[in-house]
Amino acid sequence: MSAAELLKNRSEFEDKIRKLLARPVLLTELDMFALPCGCSGITANIRGLEVDDLDVFEAQLMPILKEIAANLSVKPSVTFARLVPGSSIVASLNWRTLCNRCYPEFAKGQGKTPRPDLYLLQFEKRK
Ligand SMILES: [Zn+2]
Repeated sequence: MSAAELLKNRSEFEDKIRKLLARPVLLTELDMFALPCGCSGITANIRGLEVDDLDVFEAQLMPILKEIAANLSVKPSVTFARLVPGSSIVASLNWRTLCNRCYPEFAKGQGKTPRPDLYLLQFEKRK
């Protein structure tokens, strides 16, 4: 993964979301991360997206989210939106390949909002 590829993916992803929502959503930063615990993934900081958009456009949004993960060679065990606490504003979209320690944290949650600041879009349960 090169920075040039990240740049290209950032602008393509932003274009696709704008077309889908017909609104000027801003993808302020696209990051790849690795955590000390063993988790890794992608974070897309975003402005102009609301929880309602995820609800309404989930079917159209999911293929776009899967595509960007595939483009960046990330196989997410969980894809979620992080919300600004106490609001309906989406602060970021996150693709995370969970380590063994963090997996149970996500697996024990119920429904789409296991925590008030999380909105789950995809979760791969382990067998
Ligand atoms: Zn972890």
